[in-house]
Amino acid sequence: MSSYYISTRGQGPRLNFPDTTLAGLARDGGLYVPEIVPRLMQNDLAEIASMPYADAAFRVIEPFVGQDIPSADLKSIIQAAYKNFSHPDIAPLHKFEDNFYLMELFHGPTLAFKDVALQFLGHVFDYILTRKKQRVTIIGATSGDTGSAAIDSFKGKDNVDIFILHPHNRVSEVQRRQMTTVAAANVFNIAVEGSFDDCQDLVKAMFNDAKFRDDMALSAINSINWARILAQVVYYVVAAARLKKPVTFCVPTGNFGNIYAGHMARSIGAPIEKLIVATNRNDILHRFFETGEMRTDGVTPSLSPSMDIQISSNFERLLFELYERNGAAISSIMDEFRSKGSFHVRAETLIQLKNLFASGRLDDEQTLDVIRDTYKRRNYILDPHTAVGVGVAEAYRKNNPQSLVVSLATAHPAKFPAAVKKAIGIEPALPAPLADLYQRPEKYDVLPVDLAQVQQFVRDRAKR
Ligand SMILES: *Cc1c(COP(=O)(O)O)cnc(C)c1O
Repeated sequence: MSSYYISTRGQGPRLNFPDTTLAGLARDGGLYVPEIVPRLMQNDLAEIASMPYADAAFRVIEPFVGQDIPSADLKSIIQAAYKNFSHPDIAPLHKFEDNFYLMELFHGPTLAFKDVALQFLGHVFDYILTRKKQRVTIIGATSGDTGSAAIDSFKGKDNVDIFILHPHNRVSEVQRRQMTTVAAANVFNIAVEGSFDDCQDLVKAMFNDAKFRDDMALSAINSINWARILAQVVYYVVAAARLKKPVTFCVPTGNFGNIYAGHMARSIGAPIEKLIVATNRNDILHRFFETGEMRTDGVTPSLSPSMDIQISSNFERLLFELYERNGAAISSIMDEFRSKGSFHVRAETLIQLKNLFASGRLDDEQTLDVIRDTYKRRNYILDPHTAVGVGVAEAYRKNNPQSLVVSLATAHPAKFPAAVKKAIGIEPALPAPLADLYQRPEKYDVLPVDLAQVQQFVRDRAKR
């Protein structure tokens, strides 16, 4: 049996898992969601609680994939995806105190939680493309973490060339070096003389150029890709199973991908109470959960750059569900959002949302305070993204002392040394496999914000 996916805008073709994975965005501009959401079985949670992570991942992922990838092959894909993690538990829980845990998601090769999804995606892509005898050109824009995680996952793969655009001089040095020191012949880094938004606009323009898209067989690996969400569902289920009690998760949020995965985990039957949206000063989501109005308001750079976001793309998936899977309604809401920069949800939808989610925000000063305070009180060094989550979680715990709260640690502190140093005067060291990062030779090209030049660069280098 196949598992099928449908578009949130109601028009895109229904696809099976492999085609959904390669498609990324649906042709009607929507995002793919499962046609039928599977449910965990009675004994699944108890068994998952004592399974190695990769086995638990197979248990969670398989019903979403169906027989388009035979079980034995899916098992090997998952094993391969998690073999390069430096911690045997992949997503270990660190206990702060009774009822308060941190889930460490940064033990992958590039030190951010993006690895959990992208290591899986790389192996899934490779498997699907090999079976279909296809070759694709992956193009993505990054503010830092996605690019490094994607490059690590796709480096050296025979059926993929990968081009990652980052804003020149606007990613951290660790982030840049993680991308530019990878020597594989299929990896191309483009430093764009502009902002992250310029990078994203260039990528969008390349996808909207039908001839270029077809000539290059373009493929997307950004956080709207369903297979990435799916890989992230796993750690929510595993944490809830291991803690054996209903859990509230606090999630440092940008594109709403990670927290949507938490919502999906709850939908399949994991015992999850609230999901808390934690934002930095770019608080469009926090304001939305207070008012029911999503309104863009520009982006100001913060200490947690991976959460500096105008529009949380994955939110559309949640909206589709809350609007009774009415693709036409979502399509018109999204049109309104694009033209006016804002939309409202129905009053009853806001009530539903408040039952499912809570939210909070932290500015940069508060973020530094949390890093300092956590170091002092708990002898634990947080990265600035994780600190936003911990700060929001602590506030939630004051009002909900009975709740069991797990806050997600989305990056290793060594990935953002400047912010950490600012808070506690200590520059966290890179873990051993990356210790010589500053000695490795870099390779990247600097290009202006010019679509024609970037397209020519890709045409000249992709092995089509
Ligand atoms: C990407 C990222 C986030 C935000 O995750 P979303 O899925 O976009 O909500 C938070 N923290 C870090 C370190 C990230 O790299």
